[in-house]
Amino acid sequence: MKNWAGSHEYAAARIHRPTSVEQLQELVAGSRRVRALGTRHSFTDLADTTGDLVSTLDLPPTVDVGDTTVRVAAGVRYGDLALRLHEHRLALATMASLPHISVGGAVATGTHGSGDRTGSLAAAVAALDHVGADGELHRVARGEEDFAGHVVALGALGVTTHVTLDVEPAYDVRQDLFTDLDWDAVDLDELTGAAYSVSLFTGWTNGRIDQAWLKSRGTEAPVLAAEPAATTLHMLAGADVAAVTEQGGRPGPWHERLPHFRLEFTPSRGEELQSEYLLPRRRAAEAVDALRRLAPGFAHLLQVSEVRTIAADDLWLSGAYAGDAVGLHFTWVRDRPAVYAALPAIEAALLPLGARPHWGKCFVATADQLAPAYPRLGDFRDLAGRLDPERKLRNEFLARHVGLEWTNEP
Ligand SMILES: Cc1cc2nc3c(=O)[nH]c(=O)nc-3n(C[C@H](O)[C@H](O)[C@H](O)COP(=O)(O)OP(=O)(O)OC[C@H]3O[C@@H](n4cnc5c(N)ncnc54)[C@H](O)[C@@H]3O)c2cc1C
Repeated sequence: MKNWAGSHEYAAARIHRPTSVEQLQELVAGSRRVRALGTRHSFTDLADTTGDLVSTLDLPPTVDVGDTTVRVAAGVRYGDLALRLHEHRLALATMASLPHISVGGAVATGTHGSGDRTGSLAAAVAALDHVGADGELHRVARGEEDFAGHVVALGALGVTTHVTLDVEPAYDVRQDLFTDLDWDAVDLDELTGAAYSVSLFTGWTNGRIDQAWLKSRGTEAPVLAAEPAATTLHMLAGADVAAVTEQGGRPGPWHERLPHFRLEFTPSRGEELQSEYLLPRRRAAEAVDALRRLAPGFAHLLQVSEVRTIAADDLWLSGAYAGDAVGLHFTWVRDRPAVYAALPAIEAALLPLGARPHWGKCFVATADQLAPAYPRLGDFRDLAGRLDPERKLRNEFLARHVGLEWTNEP
């Protein structure tokens, strides 16, 4: 079995699809090596194991809607959750570019949308239920000790069965696109502050932001001194515009505008790899300058780059830990050797600025190189050591990039 992008073939000895939490508990309790799997949208060996890979997608798709929170099964996709919430006139504060991803996998990797004042999807987590390495059910809630270590946890602390998320009254969003902005003329803070959620698409080499996607809450048009798009646009040249959510400034339900892609279509290109680095907002201009300088070296591999913003949170392994962040994303062609050959130069420029790689996308930095950007990394390792003393939830990825010691014993 491969991941969504076809870039990784899972090496697990066995793949399981439990249909009850009790089955899942038995599996985890009886396994020597076990990892959770969601909708397989991460691009690397992150989810993999040499032992038992456990899909959460066949667990009962519970969605318990309350007044201010929803408790949802981890294998439910954000797009399906959104439909249920909307029936109750409720909403999430943010969504990723695609609604196809599982709640458990998205939260575990710190997945985010965009918005100066909007946190990542993980920032909305109020509580988690998970099957621990011991096979027992555990619950952690916001405010409890170590909760902030549990949320973006890369599957290293247990298999999440249910996630409780903050919700708010449903709202409308309008999506207005603008084209051809001059990097040298824009004030990035002003631009990302021009709407509730802003995404900027660029190829870096022509000095232009080719497209600016502004998603505004309510009905009022955003004010931007730029050329409004004349037609519906896809951010990828030549891709089918049927796949993108409605543009053109017509207000509609939050979940039909916040993601870039419609649930019933393939998001993005499909044949691709992705990388993303989250940096402190105050280093954004330097990072943009660095990428514009480096772009001639990687432009032949790039389908498009996207710039987004994410509000600060307190989650130990989050890209927005303790400070507002800017996300610099790359949709690459699906040429793994060439992309991985290009990443060291990008990381050499961005890591000194405090870059944190998106855990679910392609990067090369090792745990030692990443440690300065994650002040709570040591605490996370201690927590993983306490909760999983037999190291059954670890894998090669976590050893390489998080420093969770591991040996691949049978
Ligand atoms: C086309 C495309 C667009 C994307 N757009 C965005 C975007 O807009 N913003 C963004 O931030 N990211 C984006 N991503 C990245 C994506 O959100 C992450 O890769 C995320 O992990 C996907 O969730 P998943 O369920 O597919 O995770 P998987 O790939 O299945 O798993 C990823 C990790 O989560 C863990 N995990 C999964 N389920 C559980 C569980 N129940 N309990 C514990 N751990 C679990 C796994 O063990 C693994 O470590 C995009 C990816 C693609 C392919």
